[in-house]
Amino acid sequence: MKIYKFGGASVKDAEGIKNVSSIIQNHKGNQLLIVVSAMGKITNKLEELTTAYLNGQDDVHQIFDEIKLYHFNILNQLFPDHNHPIFNDVANTFVEIDWLIEEEPEDAPDYIYDQIVSIGEIISTKILAAYLGTLQNNVKWVDARNFVHTDNTYREGLVNWEKTEAEIQENLAPLLKDNIAVTQGFIGNTSENFTTTLGREGSDYSAAIFSACLNAESMTIWKDVPGVLNADPKWFDETERIPQLSYHDAIELAYYGATVIHPKTIKPIQNKNIPLYVRSFLHPDAEGTDITDLKNHLPVPSFIFKVNQVLLSIFPKDFSFIIEENLSHIFSLFHNHRVKINTMLNSAISFSISFDYDAKKLESLIADLSKDYKVKYNTDVELVTIRYYNQETIDRVTVNKNILLEVKSRNTCQIVMRDKKETE
Ligand code: ASP
Repeated sequence: MKIYKFGGASVKDAEGIKNVSSIIQNHKGNQLLIVVSAMGKITNKLEELTTAYLNGQDDVHQIFDEIKLYHFNILNQLFPDHNHPIFNDVANTFVEIDWLIEEEPEDAPDYIYDQIVSIGEIISTKILAAYLGTLQNNVKWVDARNFVHTDNTYREGLVNWEKTEAEIQENLAPLLKDNIAVTQGFIGNTSENFTTTLGREGSDYSAAIFSACLNAESMTIWKDVPGVLNADPKWFDETERIPQLSYHDAIELAYYGATVIHPKTIKPIQNKNIPLYVRSFLHPDAEGTDITDLKNHLPVPSFIFKVNQVLLSIFPKDFSFIIEENLSHIFSLFHNHRVKINTMLNSAISFSISFDYDAKKLESLIADLSKDYKVKYNTDVELVTIRYYNQETIDRVTVNKNILLEVKSRNTCQIVMRDKKETE
């Protein structure tokens, strides 16, 4: 049993669907489960639709029409026969959103978000399964919501592993014996039968859930890059592909923000010792990166850049120490506001963190923190994490920068910084 995961970029248009189908068809061996994201940037567009609906904006229907048009254009290119049942199937799926946006938004926004945004994955998988079905027999569309069970934390569903594993082994494994199944990443289901999502970019995680529960032989993530690189080509001219990577380094890189793999992906597959292959869907036969229980560490220093960060420092109003009691209170506030910490450092009377900028989150967090603490912050700062750093690598990334905070462990250095000219 192998698991293939295809992200939005691989299925962004009709050509993409054809390319993915040919990769699937080239798969030799029998059992295969395909996990797919929404097409292209459709999740962003569905988020836009959700916001427009929640805010009662006039352009709700216009945004929705654009989403429909995008998918029907792809369908028209893939299926010359417009009587193919997929046209009705997709149209009927969109009707679910039509019904929802007819009503005034009365339910909780996160719940509404999940009901709308999850449609992207439902439709992409229906289209891929239908197209693949024109090329070969035994293709089954599988609704991931029958298998991935979560609690009701909308937008960040917490997986109920026991129930999920039992369901997958009992009802999905037998089906995979004679079929290639196409299912959704990113989505799950509550015990009351409502759709949840697992957090943005969560399809890798879904693939890892299926891999672990099926005791897969391997999992492959098909990307638009040649594998895991030691830096993002967006920020670095010279990057190197890392052919072999340990689970440990992979989880560290993903945790610090290397976008090539979702951070939650590694644990389930490491726990079952399942190899994870990162391959290019543009060059399917080329080598990529193999992530395994390798004992060697990364052959080269790796750099992870995160821009648009906030650096926030907290000081007790009465000059008292930052001790465990304060820290547990501060952490509970971060948790309540869903702030995910990228770096942290404490001194006697201050505690600093950096996290991804989000205007609303920042405002509400500061309002809460200010009740008990003095708060200072900078926006528009950058965070660079260097795994296996040395002075030369630090010098390289801090040219023309003012360092605002630096945290080092034995293998990892994190620097929060901003351009010199801005501050001088
Ligand atoms: N479609 C979702 C997103 O864009 C999940 C994923 O692609 O991994 O966040």
